[in-house]
Amino acid sequence: MSSNPSRVIPIAAAEAASGIEGEGGWLFEKQKKIYPRSVTGTFAKWRWAMVWLTQIMFYGLPWLQWNDRQAVLFDLAARRFYIFGLVLHPQDLVYLAALLIISAYLLFLFTAVAGRLWCGFSCPQTVYTEIFLWVERRFEGDRIARMRLDAAPWSFEKLWRKGGKQAAWIGIGLWTGFTLVGYFTPVKVLWGEAFTMSFGPWEWFWVLFYGFATYGNAGYLREQVCTYMCPYARFQSAMFDRDTLIVSYDPQRGEPRGSRGRKVDPRAKGLGDCIDCGLCVQVCPTGIDIRNGLQYQCISCASCVDVCNEVMDKMNYERGLIRFATQNGLSNRWSSGQTLKRVLRPRVLVYSGVLALICIGFVVSLALRSPFRVDVVRDRGALARLVDDGAVENVYRLQVMNATEATQRYRVSLDGLDGAAISSRADFEVGAAEARWWPVSVQVPHGVARSLGAGAHAIRFRIERLAHGEDGAAVVDEKSTFVVPR
Ligand code: SF4
Ligand code: SF4
Repeated sequence: MSSNPSRVIPIAAAEAASGIEGEGGWLFEKQKKIYPRSVTGTFAKWRWAMVWLTQIMFYGLPWLQWNDRQAVLFDLAARRFYIFGLVLHPQDLVYLAALLIISAYLLFLFTAVAGRLWCGFSCPQTVYTEIFLWVERRFEGDRIARMRLDAAPWSFEKLWRKGGKQAAWIGIGLWTGFTLVGYFTPVKVLWGEAFTMSFGPWEWFWVLFYGFATYGNAGYLREQVCTYMCPYARFQSAMFDRDTLIVSYDPQRGEPRGSRGRKVDPRAKGLGDCIDCGLCVQVCPTGIDIRNGLQYQCISCASCVDVCNEVMDKMNYERGLIRFATQNGLSNRWSSGQTLKRVLRPRVLVYSGVLALICIGFVVSLALRSPFRVDVVRDRGALARLVDDGAVENVYRLQVMNATEATQRYRVSLDGLDGAAISSRADFEVGAAEARWWPVSVQVPHGVARSLGAGAHAIRFRIERLAHGEDGAAVVDEKSTFVVPR
């Protein structure tokens, strides 16, 4: 055996892995806790601007009043949705579906242009993690202080810091759950119930469930939601191509990396611009090293861009060693102008065109929307019957949904079937934003019925809203059939 130490292969005991053991080995590796360092800079400001914008909207909207009612309220019990001046009934769900389609298209468009910009700046997971991290920093300090506190034995200081953080996290979680329920139950009623602890069972369930989900996702799961649980993270790569803007490290400029003094000329030492300070890894909320290239864990938060720009400033190097760039731009060494020109490629223009068409269709359809809706349902219990003088009678039920916020008067008349007449009361009222069923009997004289013959014959109901105050007249026609028995 050689005594040469350089030829001895050191064998170290493997570090005990932790996780769940399966037959073929470990099913998963236990996640190491990440302590992201705080960062300042242009993109950090944008992230916080988005936090303020989204959270003022989310927490504030339920408290906004409109026409003496909550401006945005999804009243499931009464089956009415209020969105400012818009009153939607379940039959109008097509508008909500259109909104979802527009949101999905916007996401496709943003992803094709600038990758996971949504993830880094406006996804609720990122936004709440940012808020919870801010609270954590207030109680436990920045990265190093938090690491030290976690490693330290329990003491009074550790107890109050950890306890304070937990209390604040639970408070934010519960307030978030309360706000969410406030979109479905009038928030002022809910506020009163909160003081007397008299929520209904569903209100309790959703306040606690959503509150706990916020606490768990933003306080503990954090980047693991983006890495393992979010479906968008899985399919977004299908929307990327080499002309998509992504947060990228410029290896041609940065490598070979290495530490050096501020006065040293890196070229003379054969070094690139990366001083290997590791700050880009320390600020990364998903714990990756962007210098290893494009990775699916990257949520495009641009924290590494901000911190690296700070380092470049200190070293008196040009900014942008880590920046938003495209793969084609980096490998061909394109200028930002050339890169941006390629970002507006046919795929992006097609997405934009389709999105513009859907948006125009949505707005036009909303503007031309009738101020009321009608459904005609034939009475299935008595399809047709003969009345005293030999006339044939059919009974219908009309559901009239008033989409305005004032009581309206309606009148029903018939069209399309000669001799048909309404034998019941033909005018009625429907309250503000309400839906009302109204029975209508239609009779056809004996002679007309015989000449029509047995079977179903087309008939049209004309429902007219009578002019009242500022609301003008409006008409809706609904088709149905009139049955003549054998
Ligand atoms: S922050 Fe910039 S300079 Fe520092 S290691 Fe990362 S890429 Fe290199
Ligand atoms: S690599 Fe940079 S942009 Fe990507 S998640 Fe980490 S810090 Fe954010």
